[in-house]
Amino acid sequence: MNRTQSEKLHNEAVTHIVGGVNSPSRSYKAVGGGAPTVMAKAQGAYFYDVDGNKYIDYLAAYGPIITGHAHPHITQALTTAAQNGLLYGTPTEHEIKFAKMLKEAIPSMDKVRFTNSGTEAVMTTIRVARAYTGRIKMLKFAGCYHGHSDLVLVAAGSGPATLGTPDSAGVPKSIAEEVITVPFNDPERFIEAMDKWGDELAGILVEPIVGNFGMVEPNPGFLEVVHTHAKKHGTLVIYDEVITAFRFHYGAASTLLGFEPDLTALGKIIGGGLPIGAYGGKKEVMEQVAPNGPAYQAGTMAGNPASIQTGIACLEVLRAPGVYEELDRLGKLLEDGILAAAKQHQITITVNRIRGALSIYFTDEKVENYEQAEASDGEQFAHFFRLMLEQGINLAPSKYEAWFVTTAHTEQDIEETVKAVNHAFEKMAQ
Ligand code: PLP
Repeated sequence: MNRTQSEKLHNEAVTHIVGGVNSPSRSYKAVGGGAPTVMAKAQGAYFYDVDGNKYIDYLAAYGPIITGHAHPHITQALTTAAQNGLLYGTPTEHEIKFAKMLKEAIPSMDKVRFTNSGTEAVMTTIRVARAYTGRIKMLKFAGCYHGHSDLVLVAAGSGPATLGTPDSAGVPKSIAEEVITVPFNDPERFIEAMDKWGDELAGILVEPIVGNFGMVEPNPGFLEVVHTHAKKHGTLVIYDEVITAFRFHYGAASTLLGFEPDLTALGKIIGGGLPIGAYGGKKEVMEQVAPNGPAYQAGTMAGNPASIQTGIACLEVLRAPGVYEELDRLGKLLEDGILAAAKQHQITITVNRIRGALSIYFTDEKVENYEQAEASDGEQFAHFFRLMLEQGINLAPSKYEAWFVTTAHTEQDIEETVKAVNHAFEKMAQ
């Protein structure tokens, strides 16, 4: 595959843009380095790069593009929005319509506020939880990503119930120390942390189905333990559904799993491809937010007509009957094909799949927490990634990222992908 133009543009990009990318996960650092593929156009399930190569895309822009690229209904909504003015700085009727749609789909949210990104949404839920409880400390689960604010770029301390340490330069130790990090799917260590810190915790941040060290479901009973102990200590439960909302059904993972978090953070899919975030929750908690309450949150671009209207259009597409069943059917075809190829070529993998979202780990262990995902073979993944790219299959360049099937993928796309997986595994087995 000729990648000359991608390489040329990347060389130019690095002289102007840090690392040549505007988000570190887009670099190929985790898969051996080199120029990331520079894309020129995206249509349906396909990407076209600047060298004229075509790819079947499973990156889906890290999740938002669940309806495929350039979906006509979303494109039309954006065109109409642009024709009527992109930004008002005043309330619009569209915001009300969208807030109602989100509330109907996610019954735990009595009130909603729009932001510009998932990072902002999560960051604000923490502020609101702190305002509501009058407490400072937070608890999160190891390996879960909640955006890039100081408050959540925190790694686990040395023990299960110790204070966190900064996971990025520039994050003050004092902020990281307000966050307790425990392993996902480990009720004992969670309870140990709650016994120690529970009465000081404002909130527990949970990805109810993890999307950031591959796709990982909560083990039966784990979220019950989280909710029970949160209630016991007067701690709010915050679901970060930036990846999961509208991913597996028309609504949030909370509804699917049968829980009612106090606050929910949203993003990605609900913008239909434009920048967005939102958060919402119980009325008495949300009443903390300015102008009604003392917790300040604002945004010049928040609730902008374009993001709101593309978001509405995206949910309209997803609301059609059969959408999630088809994502599940294609996801299963893909999973079955990958597993059969692995068996044929004696490649050891674990696949985690929930409907149209899946991840492959090069390991013979089950993956239920970050440690297990971390222990999977990164070099094998990097080799696999390159072999797939070479055959025109675009995956996220990290062993921790999921594959997303979209409504634009067809059975033929899946068959072609499985063929490429077979070829990649054959080469890897040599
Ligand atoms: N929360 C989760 C679970 C995410 O996966 C992400 C982004 O990947 C975020 C929050 C941050 O969202 P954004 O990138 O829109 O700021």
